[in-house]
Amino acid sequence: MERILLAIKKACGWIIWDVLTIIMLIGLLVIVLKDISDPAVKVALLILVFGAALLSLSMKYWFSNRQSGRDDVTGGKNKKEFERITKKLLRGNGEYVLVYANIDRFKLINETYGNDVGDQILRKIQLLLDNEVVRGETSGRIMADNFGMLMRFNTMKLLKQRLSRINHQMAELADEKGNPYGIVLYFGVYRIHDKNMEVSTMLEHANVALKKIGPSYLVPIGIYSKADMNHLEREKMLEMKMQSALEHRCFIPYLQPKYELETETIAGAEALVRWIDPKEGMIYPDEFIPLFEGNGFVTEVDLYMFEEICKLIHKWNEEGRRQIPISVNLSRSHFSVPNFFDEYENILKKYNIPPKSIEIELTESLFYNDLSALNDLVSRIHNAGCLCSIDDFGSGYSSLNMLKDVEVDALKLDRVFFENNVDKRGKDIIQSVIHLAQALELHTISEGVEERAQVEFLKQMNCDLIQGYVFAKPMPIPQFEELAFGEKAG
Ligand code: C2E
Ligand code: CA
Ligand code: CA
Repeated sequence: MERILLAIKKACGWIIWDVLTIIMLIGLLVIVLKDISDPAVKVALLILVFGAALLSLSMKYWFSNRQSGRDDVTGGKNKKEFERITKKLLRGNGEYVLVYANIDRFKLINETYGNDVGDQILRKIQLLLDNEVVRGETSGRIMADNFGMLMRFNTMKLLKQRLSRINHQMAELADEKGNPYGIVLYFGVYRIHDKNMEVSTMLEHANVALKKIGPSYLVPIGIYSKADMNHLEREKMLEMKMQSALEHRCFIPYLQPKYELETETIAGAEALVRWIDPKEGMIYPDEFIPLFEGNGFVTEVDLYMFEEICKLIHKWNEEGRRQIPISVNLSRSHFSVPNFFDEYENILKKYNIPPKSIEIELTESLFYNDLSALNDLVSRIHNAGCLCSIDDFGSGYSSLNMLKDVEVDALKLDRVFFENNVDKRGKDIIQSVIHLAQALELHTISEGVEERAQVEFLKQMNCDLIQGYVFAKPMPIPQFEELAFGEKAG
C-alpha cells in the first residue's frame, strides 16, 4: 500500500489525490442539493461519498506522517524519527548502547562510482542495519554517510561480535561485476547510563568515540570515555581563542640552542612555539600543534613564527652580533596551499635576511608523498637563501634510500634513537645513519640527547650538532641572547 502511495506521490505529487478529494466533496454537495426521490438512496449515497472523502484525507494524513519520518535516500528512518523511536524504546527496561556508524572513505566511493551508486550503497547499508537490530532496538540515518543504532547491551564482547558481523556483511557489498566496494563501517559506542539524556547528546558522545579510532585500527570500534569528552571540550576551547591569541601576540618563539660537538659551543637554534595564555600560562605545542594541523590554523602560526624569527635576525644584524642560524618548523599543511612559499619569500626580502641564516625544517612524514613536489619546494627554499633539513628522521617509515633523492642540507636524528639506554645495536644504527648522511654531504643534528655518555658517543661518530636537554632546554629569547652573546640584551 505504502509503495503504491509513494509511486503516486512520486509521479504527480499530491495533485491527483487532492483533485479526487475535491471531486468527492463537490459530489457530496450535489447529492445534498439534488432532489433524489428515495431518501434511503440519498442517505446511502451521502454516507458512501462522505466516507470516501474522509478515507482519502486520512490516508494522505497517515502517509505524510509516515513519510516525514522516512529518509529520502535510504527509505529507512531519518534522524528525527530515529531519535523519536530511540526515546520511546529507552522507556523500557534493560541496558542500552547508542552506536554512531560512519563509512570509511565514502567520498571515494562517490567519486569512483558516482552518486547514484553511492545512494544505492546507503540504502543497502540501512537494510543491513535494520536486519541486525532486533525487537526493542532501532536504526536510522543521521546524515550523509552516518548512521545511528540503538542496541541492547549485554557484554562488550557480544556487542563487538555484532558490530563485526555487520562489517563482514559490508565486505560482501560488490558492484555488478562482483568486485567488492571494500566498505568498512567505523563504530563509535556510547553506553547509556542516563536514559533521560537527549538522544542528540548521546549521538554526540558516540561520535566523539568514533573520532578517536585511528587509521591503523585493529577493530574499527571506539568506546566513549569521559576523558574523550574532556579532550574534545579542551580542543573546542583552544579553537575558540586561537585567532585572538594570534592577534594579541600570545604565540611566543622560544629558542633551543644547538651545540657544535667539537667545541661544545652554540652554533644554532631551533625556534619552538609556546602559547602564553594570560589566564592559563604556558601551553605546550604538543597540545595545540596537532589540533592546528587538523584545522589548518598551523599555517598561520608557522608564518607568524617565521616573521618573528626574521625580525630577530634583522635585529641581531643591526646590533652587529655574530650570525647564529635559526631553524623554523614548516608544517605539512602548507602543501595544500599552492604557492604558499611566496609569502615566506616576501618576508625574507622585507627584513633583508642574509643567506644561510634561516633553516627550514621539513617533517619526515612529508617525504612519503610526492618527492618531485618536495624537491621543487627544496629548490625554492635554497633559491631564497635558506637552508633546509629533514626533521624527526627515524620516527616514521622513510627509508635511508630516499635521502639520495632530496637535496636537503641537514638531517635531524629523531629523539627515538636516544630514548632509553642505547645498546650495541642501537649504536650501530645511529652510526650507519650518520655515516650515510656524511657520504651524502649532509650535516647531522642529534635531537633529544639527555645524557653525557651519548654526547661522547656522538663525538666519536663525528655528528655535527646536538640539540638536547643535556646542554639546554628551549628558552625565551632574552635568555638565549644572554647565553649566546654573553650579555643581557637590550
Ligand atoms: P620538534 O620539531 O621535534 O622539536 C623538538 C622537540 O623536542 C621540542 O619540543 C623540544 O623541547 C624537545 N626536546 C629537545 N631536546 C629534548 C630532550 O633532550 N629531551 C626531550 N624529552 N625533549 C627534547 P616542543 O618545544 O614541546 O615541541 C614539540 C613539537 O611541536 C615540535 O617537535 C614540533 O613538531 C612542534 N612545533 C613546535 N613549534 C612549532 C612551530 O612553530 N610550528 C610547527 N609546525 N610545529 C611546531
Ligand atoms: Ca623541529
Ligand atoms: Ca624534531
